[in-house]
Amino acid sequence: MAGRIRDEDIAMVREQSPIAEVIGEYLQLRNAGGGSLKGLCPFHDEKTPSFNVTPARGLWYCFSCADGGDVIRFVEKVDNLSFPEAVERLAGRAGIELTYEQGGHVPGQEHSQRRRLLAANQAAAEFYADRLHAPAAAPARDFLSERGFELADAEGFGCGYAPAEWEALTKHLRGRGFTDAELLLSGLASQGRRGPVDRFRGRLLWPIRDLTGDVIAFGARKLDPDDNGPKYLNTPETPLFKKSSVLYGADLAKREIAHRRQAVIVEGYTDVMACHLSGVPTAVATSGTSFGDGHVKLLRRLLMDADQFLGEVVFTFDGDAAGQRAVLRAFELEERFVTQTFVAVQADGLDPCDLRCKHGPEAVRDLVARRVPVFEFAIRSELAKHNLETNEGRLAALDAAARVIARIKDRGLRDRYAISLDRWLGMLDEEFVLARVREHASGALAGPRRSFADPAAGGGRGAGRPGGPGGPGGADGPARRGPIASAGQATRGGPGVAGAAAVPGGPAGGLAALAHPADRPRALPTILPTR
Ligand SMILES: [Zn+2]
Repeated sequence: MAGRIRDEDIAMVREQSPIAEVIGEYLQLRNAGGGSLKGLCPFHDEKTPSFNVTPARGLWYCFSCADGGDVIRFVEKVDNLSFPEAVERLAGRAGIELTYEQGGHVPGQEHSQRRRLLAANQAAAEFYADRLHAPAAAPARDFLSERGFELADAEGFGCGYAPAEWEALTKHLRGRGFTDAELLLSGLASQGRRGPVDRFRGRLLWPIRDLTGDVIAFGARKLDPDDNGPKYLNTPETPLFKKSSVLYGADLAKREIAHRRQAVIVEGYTDVMACHLSGVPTAVATSGTSFGDGHVKLLRRLLMDADQFLGEVVFTFDGDAAGQRAVLRAFELEERFVTQTFVAVQADGLDPCDLRCKHGPEAVRDLVARRVPVFEFAIRSELAKHNLETNEGRLAALDAAARVIARIKDRGLRDRYAISLDRWLGMLDEEFVLARVREHASGALAGPRRSFADPAAGGGRGAGRPGGPGGPGGADGPARRGPIASAGQATRGGPGVAGAAAVPGGPAGGLAALAHPADRPRALPTILPTR
């Protein structure tokens, strides 16, 4: 047990931790008048901000949760820390050295577990970054330079190299005073037959940071073709790393996301780098999991995604079949945002990293600029499957697209898209098209039954690479799919993994299934619309 932190120190920590600044690391705050600020509450799901901060009094309060307190209480809650841990965290931030009163205090153990794990990750990040310059790291440097990254770019993102040895990091961290238990708990080492061994060996590494910029995990790409491990390997879930609510690059992007009211979701670590270096500083990616509810919540807070503010979330896809299936997930996620969601598709199948290499940074900016509302994209994809030259083809396309439109929750928007559909089909009969869409919406017209979203077929196949979590969407992997259906997740054996997106392309390829939410696999409760 750690000793008790002196009251004077606690007061000093409170004084030197400006509440708006600390809370501003986690959510966007806007002026609410009367000397207070407001934002979307991080402790409950809400559409309009009821979370208030009064900097002059050093207090926050959420009117919906009916909960509030000072800056320490906020950090306790948001990071799930004990009181002393929260004080330690804020002390670290403010550069205050804490003193502990005697009483059960064991010297050398005064730091909380969280601080120890953060320190281990930080030490590992420095170790790996340093090794990137070693002769043995040539394949890592080549990998980066082949993708158009200078060494300085790599350093800016903290890239590193894990030596192809069993105990390089383990020995280094032991020498720095970390225990085997800490190495295992942080995920930096895994249990070998005779003690901990390095988790990452012979790989290029990206440190994954939380919103405050602390390193909490790593993503690692294999470099040796003879390596039998997965292409991308991530830190497993640890007390620090909850991948379902972490977005790679969010620490760098959060201010621009708030400022531009835009977030761009890409697939891989290299895509995030390419975007940021190309003038799209709002890019983020998931790390070894599909884009889900936790990511939505995080982005909504950063965007201040509320009724009265306009923002946009742009999902990028490389335009192949897998990417198109991933759009289905975007469609579902659309309903979780108040902000409008868009799809940016590169027709020639290039991801942002390839785009920047082949066509320069303008092409990356252009990809984002050519975004299309997700509903429009889904409808047009459906139309593209039909021959619109014939009456039969147009009618079939109308029914297929109408089933997609029928899924739009907002009635007004549904009607607008029905009218657009009439135009896109060239039918010039709005009433007819509207009626058809409304029939589908009311369930009067039955569509084809389950086309591909069969949990039995979906489980693991195609997605469930036994190697476990992959990269942030399995960048450049053969099983490549959109950012919202990252190969990384691949929850092996999970029924209906990644829903529509993960299922190898059935001929009926997907959008039709949207009309039948009941048919979708049950494995994705977290992304099902909540309203
Ligand atoms: Zn609340």
